[in-house]
Amino acid sequence: MYVRGVGPRVAEMLAAKGIQTAEDLLYHLPFRYEDRQNPRSLDELKPGEMASVIAEVRGAALLRTRRMPIFELTVGQGRLALKCIWFNASYLSGKFNAGQTVALFGKVEPSRSTSNLKMIQPQWELLPDANEDAETRLLEVGRITPVYESLGGSRLASRWQRKVIFNLLEGMRSAMPECLPQTMLARLGMPNRELALREVHYPPEGTPMTQLQAWATPAHRRLIFEELFFLELGLELKRRRMRERVGISFATTDTVRTALREVLPFHPTAAQKRTLGEIVADMRQPSPMRRLLQGDVGSGKTIVALQAMLVAIENGYQAALMAPTEILATQHFLAARKLLERSSRRYRIVLLTGSLDEDRKRLNRSMIHRGEAHLVIGTHALIEEKVEFDRLGLVVVDEQHRFGVLQRFRLMKKPNQAEPDVLVMTATPIPRTLALSLYGDLDVSVLDELPPGRTPIVTRRVPDERAEDVWDFVRKQVAQGRQAYIVYPVIEGTRDDQPELDFCHDEPSPDASTLKSAAAPVRKTVRKGKSGNLFPNSTVGANPAARSGLKSAVEMHEKLRTGPLAGLRVGLLHGRLDADDKEVIMRRFQRGEIDVLVATTVIEVGVDVPNATVMVVEHAERFGLAQMHQLRGRVGRGAAKSYCILVTGGRVSEQAEERLNAMVRTQDGFELAELDLAMRGPGEFFGTRQAGLPDFRVANLVRDRQLLELAKQEAARFANAPASAAEGTEAERARVWSRLKEAWQRRYGLVEAG
Ligand code: ADP
Ligand code: MG
Repeated sequence: MYVRGVGPRVAEMLAAKGIQTAEDLLYHLPFRYEDRQNPRSLDELKPGEMASVIAEVRGAALLRTRRMPIFELTVGQGRLALKCIWFNASYLSGKFNAGQTVALFGKVEPSRSTSNLKMIQPQWELLPDANEDAETRLLEVGRITPVYESLGGSRLASRWQRKVIFNLLEGMRSAMPECLPQTMLARLGMPNRELALREVHYPPEGTPMTQLQAWATPAHRRLIFEELFFLELGLELKRRRMRERVGISFATTDTVRTALREVLPFHPTAAQKRTLGEIVADMRQPSPMRRLLQGDVGSGKTIVALQAMLVAIENGYQAALMAPTEILATQHFLAARKLLERSSRRYRIVLLTGSLDEDRKRLNRSMIHRGEAHLVIGTHALIEEKVEFDRLGLVVVDEQHRFGVLQRFRLMKKPNQAEPDVLVMTATPIPRTLALSLYGDLDVSVLDELPPGRTPIVTRRVPDERAEDVWDFVRKQVAQGRQAYIVYPVIEGTRDDQPELDFCHDEPSPDASTLKSAAAPVRKTVRKGKSGNLFPNSTVGANPAARSGLKSAVEMHEKLRTGPLAGLRVGLLHGRLDADDKEVIMRRFQRGEIDVLVATTVIEVGVDVPNATVMVVEHAERFGLAQMHQLRGRVGRGAAKSYCILVTGGRVSEQAEERLNAMVRTQDGFELAELDLAMRGPGEFFGTRQAGLPDFRVANLVRDRQLLELAKQEAARFANAPASAAEGTEAERARVWSRLKEAWQRRYGLVEAG
């Protein structure tokens, strides 16, 4: 379609931003609005508030200070004046002329002279003067004006988008197809699509600014709902299609029940009984199971999964468990073997990981292929090594973020066999509403109860300066026969080549820090080398990690072993060791032959050593909440009292502060997950791509959770209504379906859950 203002060159720039159609452009909503209906007078401004101001340019100057060029702009209204400052902004010189009108948006700062307020680095836009064309004036002055994120440099910034979008809207007047049934819109009290699009770009006079900025106007809500509705409708359909596929109906006879009971080393919790019940009920169904088992660290997922696998095995099928790392696969293997030894039956269990030698692999593969292996535990190697099962009945995938592998399990069964059931386990507590809505094509079981007899873990925050106390404490615990973990954010060297890093990205942007250092009175801040506190006499020389101010596992292993923890058996574990070494070390730690394990986050998931009672996390300010919570979950697994010590050694940002406080305050994984989600947003929370979460155009899963619930309900209602009670006319329904197809193909490309 031809759009005024979009030639081939611009089209290319837009495509780079994922904007390919006129519709994409229309759904690129303003990220904020400026009230230019009744501009604020300068004397109404209060220090500390975010304000938008329209004033006349009085003067501008580029000041060359020793540190950097500073651009100063003075604007005024009558006798009142406001000063604006930009750092490192030579590029601004020559941009302003006295007499021009400028719109500014930024935080109002107090200024030394009471009469003069100040804005630092405000956003700005020169307003069109009387010579400018009428259209520009119409769109930018005397109204609530949309402000857009640029789609390509200054050329495709707000002004350009305003015009193009305005023209698009004009061109489509009364011709924009609706994609939701009228009856639905009427019931929900939502405007039609055309009106909604018009009003999010050009809000009618008098629309409350707070509602606009929060994306909470009826127009916004309608567009957000629309996006979420098509997501949920797609999920609903997938789920229905899954119910039509041919799976295996497992039987739960008395023999099966006995087999399950035999392996139980303890009384299951009520939550374990309930979730196993849910899983087994699915397994009895003739359609394939697709279920997510969620449970906080230590909630006891392993035994539940194992029992589910026994159901398959007792029915004459094979079961496979796939873990994200070799260590975990091995641990699952050992744990499963131990549990199965309790049974009066002889199960054959096989480990398949990449690091096995070729002969072993070949042997194991053939055992799997011939059906001699009942239970197969492995890593990605299960897929990569082209393992073919004789009769695969159930696949358990540990850790949902390796989600993408799911559909590939289809390759592992023989062509005309029924589809295996799939159970996904995750220790990431996903806020319930989110899990239910997002994994619409998975059923969800939640283990929301910890096994009895756990004493709460004592969590403390300690500054780097008190490291000596921490090491003393570790020594005391070891003297009592306990073990400890000490975790570092990096293996060694710079962070770029560290495979298991998952930092929180809330470091100050270079801009913000420049701003601060420039704005603050000149004071010399001397940053002490981080290792200096612990080891005043040692030099950390040319180690790149030292340069970045981060302590690393390799470096600290050496120092602790020969320094504060001398005499203890100190081991080292990180992702760059080869798999055999990792395993050896992990086993030695498990057997109590290592007292203190210095490690990276490689130990994060699943590792189980009940005798370990201390978890020290260094540079805790660097870790995300979910990660810290996972790490803490490594202790407190036995009867003895356990401790988590969060050592901060570096600048602690406001966000980090909040994370650390939350860790000290609560041990509830779901509460922490809620907070994490609110702080980081869903993209970071899940690692968007990995989790198969779509990129939304307008929706935001944190902000729009209620609309997500509503969309889910409406989608189920729409999809499941009998023809007689169907929503909307036939033509409307046809449009919904075709739009659904388009949306899923183009935008979501969601993971197929099997
Ligand atoms: P996760 O959910 O983190 O995988 P695990 O399955 O590893 O948890 O269980 C954590 C620990 O709790 C293990 O040592 C396990 O043996 C123990 N455990 C699990 N369920 C129970 C129970 N019902 N009673 C007592 N201990 C249990
Ligand atoms: Mg586990």
